[in-house]
Amino acid sequence: MLPQRFRRLLPLAIAALALAIPRATFPEEPPGPAWWPAGTYDPKVPTPASVLGYEVGDAFTDYPRFERYLRALEAGCDRIRVSVYGESYERRPLYLAVLSSPKNLKALEAVRAGNLKLADPRTLGNPQEAERLIASNPAIAWMNYANDGNETAALEAAIMTLYQLCAGTDTVTQSILDQLVVVITPALNPESRERFVAFYNAFHVGPSGSPDDNAFEHHAPWGLDTNYNHYQIDLNRDAGWMTQQESRAMGRAYLAWMPQVFVDHHGETVNMFFPPVVDPVNRNLPETTRRWHEIFGRSIAEGFDRFGWSYFVGETFDDFYFGYWDTYPNLHGAVGMTFETDGGGSNGLRIERKDGTFLTLRDGARHHFIATMQTLRTTADRRAEKLRDFYSFRRSNLEPGRHEGVRAYLIPPGSDPARTWSLIETLVLDGIEVLRAREPFLLERVHGYEEARVAGRSFPAGTFVVSMSQPESALVQALLEKDPKIPDAFVAAQKKRKEKKLGTEFYDITAWSFPLAFGVEAYWSEQEPRVPAERVGESRPDPAGRVLGGQGRYGYLIPGDSNTGLALTVRLLRDGYAVAVTDKEFGIGARDWPRGTAVVRTERNPPALRGAIESGAREAGVDVVAVDSAWTDRGVKLGSAHVQTLRLPRVAVIAGDGSDPNSYGAIWFMFERELGLPFTPITLATLGRADLRKYDVIVFPDGESGEASYEEVARPDTIEALKTWVKQGGVLIGVRQGAAFLASSRFGLTTATPKGAEEVPPEAESPDSAGKQAAPGGEQAWESELTPGALLRIELDPDHYLSMGYGPNAAVLVYSDLVFNRSAKGSNVARFAAADRLRLGGFAWPSALAKLAGTPYLVEEPVGRGKIILFADDPNFRLMLRGLRRLFLNAVLLSPSLVSEVSVF
Ligand SMILES: [Zn+2]
Repeated sequence: MLPQRFRRLLPLAIAALALAIPRATFPEEPPGPAWWPAGTYDPKVPTPASVLGYEVGDAFTDYPRFERYLRALEAGCDRIRVSVYGESYERRPLYLAVLSSPKNLKALEAVRAGNLKLADPRTLGNPQEAERLIASNPAIAWMNYANDGNETAALEAAIMTLYQLCAGTDTVTQSILDQLVVVITPALNPESRERFVAFYNAFHVGPSGSPDDNAFEHHAPWGLDTNYNHYQIDLNRDAGWMTQQESRAMGRAYLAWMPQVFVDHHGETVNMFFPPVVDPVNRNLPETTRRWHEIFGRSIAEGFDRFGWSYFVGETFDDFYFGYWDTYPNLHGAVGMTFETDGGGSNGLRIERKDGTFLTLRDGARHHFIATMQTLRTTADRRAEKLRDFYSFRRSNLEPGRHEGVRAYLIPPGSDPARTWSLIETLVLDGIEVLRAREPFLLERVHGYEEARVAGRSFPAGTFVVSMSQPESALVQALLEKDPKIPDAFVAAQKKRKEKKLGTEFYDITAWSFPLAFGVEAYWSEQEPRVPAERVGESRPDPAGRVLGGQGRYGYLIPGDSNTGLALTVRLLRDGYAVAVTDKEFGIGARDWPRGTAVVRTERNPPALRGAIESGAREAGVDVVAVDSAWTDRGVKLGSAHVQTLRLPRVAVIAGDGSDPNSYGAIWFMFERELGLPFTPITLATLGRADLRKYDVIVFPDGESGEASYEEVARPDTIEALKTWVKQGGVLIGVRQGAAFLASSRFGLTTATPKGAEEVPPEAESPDSAGKQAAPGGEQAWESELTPGALLRIELDPDHYLSMGYGPNAAVLVYSDLVFNRSAKGSNVARFAAADRLRLGGFAWPSALAKLAGTPYLVEEPVGRGKIILFADDPNFRLMLRGLRRLFLNAVLLSPSLVSEVSVF
C-alpha cells in the first residue's frame, strides 16, 4: 500500500540498489506443501500442486485456477465453508471462506450471533452473558488478501493458508481451528491481480522469469501495474467511503462478522513489514491497539527468526488515515494490521537483490504465510483476552461524551437532499446508527464546520441525528470530526525535519471530514437532542424522483444545485432532447431557482418528452417541477437570453502514459457510473495523430511524474495540434499536474503559470517526481513544503458560470506543493481564502498557507475562440469530494455551450 506518489517506485528502487555481484545460487527450498515447520497433513485433502499443476510460488496463479482450487477444497475438506459475498465490476465473484473445526462450523450461526452480541453490548441480556461468551465463543480472525491485487504474493499465500487450515493435523493448526473462526477473503481486488498476472505471464522470459530489474516483465505498462480496481480506484483508500462496489460488498460482509483481528496482506517493500506501526496514529483508535500490535509483532518476529528472515517494524506505515483496511477495522474495535511482503508483484517470479541474492515470489508468499499463521496461533492462544478487549471497547463507546465531549452530530436535509443522503447512506454502510427526527427541535449549543462560532440552532423535521452513544462512536468521531488531531510530538518532529529541508512523514492525507468532503451542512453538539426519531436503513427515507407542479405546458425545471439534477440533464441531452440552462436566478411562487437550473421546453421537444422526464427523474432520483408558462415572479423570464442552449459536449480524456491512472479513473467512474456521459479515453500518442475536431473538450487528469510525465511523453507536434484546436474553439481542461503542464511555457496559453516553475528543474517541481529518487518516506527538499492532503477553503466568483450550484465558499483538498499565478486576462473563478481563514482541517505548513492564500484554485481563460480551464488540485481525488463534483462537471458540461464574460474576482 504505497501512496500514490510512490506507486511506480518499486522496480526503480531495486534498480537503484542492484549491483551485478556474481554469486553462487543457494539450493532451492524443498518442494512440497510443507511450509509450516514440522507440519503434518491429512493426505485426503487436495494439495495446491495437485490442482494447480505447480507448487505455490513457482508461477502466478490466475483467478480461474485459484477458483478451481477453492472448489477442490470445498469438496475435499470438512473445515471450510465457501460463499460469495459480492462481485467485482468485471463480474468476478468475491469469495469468503470460513474455516474452523467441524464442531464450530456446525454451530456457526450461533457463534456469529454471539459475536455480534459482544459487538453491541446493548443486546446482551445481562453481564453474565458477556462473560459466558468471552469464556466460550470462538474469536473471529479475518485474513484479507489481494487488496492491492498486483501485489501478487498475497493470493498465493492465501492458497497456502487455505490448504494449511484444511489439511493441517499439527497441534497449532488444531488449536487455531478450535479457538477461532478464521474468515479468509482471498481477493478483495481480483481485477488488479488479473491485469497484472495476464501481463506477467504473457511476457516473462524463461520458466522462472528474468532476475534483471531492467527486464520488461518488471515494468508493466500503464494501467496494468496499478493496485487499483477496474475503475483505477484504490480500494485501500476507499474503506469507509465505500465509493466502489467491492468496498461496499466487503463492508457488508465485515459488519456481518465483526472480527476481533483483521489482517490485510500487501507486498511492496524491500523486506517484510508488520506492525507495530509508526506515528502518527489516529486518536480514535482503541487504547489497546498499540499493545496488541506489539504482541502480534513479537509473535511474527519469532516465526521469522526461526528462518533467519529479515523484517522491519515501526517505520513508514502509520495508522492515521481511516481509509485503509487496517485503520478502518481498528476503528471498529478489531486489531487491524497491514503486512507488506517483499517478493512477487513487480519483482515477478524472481529479482536480483543488491547483494546478488535472489528474491522470489515463493519467498514473498512464504513470508506472508508465516505471518498469517503466527497471527492466528497468537489469537488462538489469547482468545478470551482478545474478546474481552473487543467487548470493552465497544461498550466504552456507549459512554456519553467519551469522544471530545461530543454527544451528537446533526445533519439537516439541506438544499441538495440527494447529496445529504449520499453521506447518510455511507454512514449506514459503515455500520453507524443514524436516526431521523420526526419533529423540529432546538439545541442551545452547536458547532458548525464553516466557522468556529458556537450558537443555538433549530433543526427541521427530517434532520439526521448521529448519537455518540453507540458502539461505533469512535468510528463516527473519526469520520465526522472536522480536524483530525495530529499528536504534538509528531508535529514537533516534522518541524525539525522541515528545518533540515527533509520531507514530512505523513503516509497519506491528513483531512477527510465527511461533511466538508460531501459539501453537506452539518453540526456537532455537546447536547443530545431529545426528539422522536426513527432509525435509518440503507434505502432513502423520502426517495426523490417525482414530477411536481403543473402540466408542463411550457416545460420542466431541473434543480441546478444537485449532482442528480446534472445526471438527468446529461441523460436528456444524450437522448437527443433540447435542454437549456439559466445563468441568472429566478423565482416562481415561493421557490427560488438558482443559476444552473436546467430548462427543458415542451415546444422545442418531441411529445415523448413527458415520459422521458418522468422515467429520468425517477432513475436519477431528482424531483423535477413542471411549469405552464415562461412567466416568472422574480428575476429573468424563461425566454431570456440568459437561458442558454446546452449541447452535449464530445469529451476526450487523456489515458495512458503521462496521465495518472487514479485521477483518470475517478473521471471515468463519474462519467460512466454517475452521469452516463459518453467519452473517449485517448493516449497522448493517438492525440497527436487524431482529428481533434471530433472533440469539444479534452481533459488532462492529474499527471505521472519523471520519465512518465506529460512533459516527457508529449511530442512537440501534439502540443502544436492542441494549441491550434483550442484557438479554434476547443475547451482544454487540466487537473493538478495536468494543469501545470497545460499552463507551462511549452504551451504559452495563459499567465496562470505554476509558481516557481521557472527556477525549479522539471524533475524536482512536482511531489510526484520524488518517487524516482527517494525511498518510501523519502527525503526530498521539495517535499518540505508539501501540503499532505489538507482541506482548505476556496472563495468562488458568484457571477461566473463555473460556480453555478455553489455559494461563496467550498472545501477543497490540497495534496501537492503546486501554487499557480493569477490569470491576468482570464477569470480566477475560485481562489484560496486568506491565510487565516484558509485551513479547514488537516496539516499544512503556515508558509504553505501563506503561499497559497489568494492564488487561484480554478482558472478559466479565453484562448482564441476556445478556452483553457485549470484546477490547481484534483477536485475528483479518489471520488472523495462529492461536494466538488459539480465544479468539475460545470467545466466539462457547460464550457463548450455557455458564453461567459471575463469577470474580475
Ligand atoms: Zn499494497
